[in-house]
Amino acid sequence: MAKVLCVLYDDPKDGYPTSYARDDIPIIASYPGGQTAPTPKAIDFTPGALLGSVSGELGLRAYLESQGHTLVVTSDKEGENSVLDQELPDTDIVISQPFWPAYLTAERIAKAPNLKLAITAGIGSDHVDLDAAIANQITVAEVTYCNSISVAEHVVMMILGLVRNYLPSHQVVLDGGWDIADCVSRSYDLEGMHVGTVAAGRIGTAVLRRLAPFDVNLHYTDRHRLPESIERELNLTFHPDTASMVPHCDVVTVNAPLHPETEGLFDDKLISTMKRGTYLINTARAKIADRDSIVRALESGQLAGYAGDVWYPQPAPADHPWRTMPHHGMTPHISGSSLSAQTRYAAGTREILESFFAGTPIRDEYLIVDGGRLAGTGAHSYSTRS
Ligand code: NDP
Repeated sequence: MAKVLCVLYDDPKDGYPTSYARDDIPIIASYPGGQTAPTPKAIDFTPGALLGSVSGELGLRAYLESQGHTLVVTSDKEGENSVLDQELPDTDIVISQPFWPAYLTAERIAKAPNLKLAITAGIGSDHVDLDAAIANQITVAEVTYCNSISVAEHVVMMILGLVRNYLPSHQVVLDGGWDIADCVSRSYDLEGMHVGTVAAGRIGTAVLRRLAPFDVNLHYTDRHRLPESIERELNLTFHPDTASMVPHCDVVTVNAPLHPETEGLFDDKLISTMKRGTYLINTARAKIADRDSIVRALESGQLAGYAGDVWYPQPAPADHPWRTMPHHGMTPHISGSSLSAQTRYAAGTREILESFFAGTPIRDEYLIVDGGRLAGTGAHSYSTRS
């Protein structure tokens, strides 16, 4: 029987919800391109419930315990005395979410000789040391596509929020004011601007599709070029790399995974090649941008705005400079954890567990590392240090 350790974010400050703003959520059976949404044999939760916090338990307890497995759920993940570190030595499966990542470093992996499976309840497994997972024959799987559209919606919201100066204008209302000139002196229309995405995978392409009706000029770069039919349909301009794309853009959105090729990509040097007043939106991973370069660029006006929901580390400390830098529209890491997304990633986590316990293959599109190598989606989108 397996011991499953599930690291989730804390419940709401006022306690686990007893009712919700809405009574149902739309049923999403498949994603663009035809991949089906998760298909576990059953679920033991109500779609639309808060599943990603500690008391939500990803809706897994009844299922796991009925099979004789042990489930430990905690939000305590920092330092050697954390519940995560204490429980790791005899844990078989770790489940974590990028929003509240249980950093599975090489040191932690060395302390977990039984660890066979690391599941990301969401997308983005960079909180797992993939080289160490490969060396230790640990399977790493994530719920590919579960929240790609959720993030794409957040990106579009943040682009409009920055360009139109929404948050400062909302603040004027909260403060009891009517200071129109203060609001509009940084407010523009998105129409006609040049918008580029670093990566056109699931999220990047969904962002491009959602922005096309705004009559903008769309650009992208990616390691693999999109089919010509999509380039034509969305009137896309392809650039061979980020450096050659960003000087053409008024808005840049980052939708690539964090791996050695993308870490620190947006540094002083790259940002200095962008048009003055570019907006940068990064919902991918914080470390793709250099923390202090972003602050400097906002202070100098080289960037007109920065928004995103990804930080390093997470949770971000109270004195993280991105909390107080000018012209930002940051949120905590929430874009991929809407109640709608939680329903899908909880179901996907259950599907992965069902396959693992039955000894049947985990869907190829969910795999990042398997059998001591990058596999499935991981082989396509990630690279390792070695
Ligand atoms: P996909 O795997 O569908 O797409 C990633 C794309 O990035 C692929 O097309 C890949 O290229 C491309 N890519 C990889 N390296 C580079 C590079 N150096 N330069 C340009 N393109 C590159 O992933 P998703 O779209 O679903 O997610 C993207 C990322 O967004 C995730 O890795 C995760 O970090 C983040 N994310 C954030 C969430 C949040 O809540 N904020 C939630 C979900 C994801 P190719 O495959 O062609 O080689």
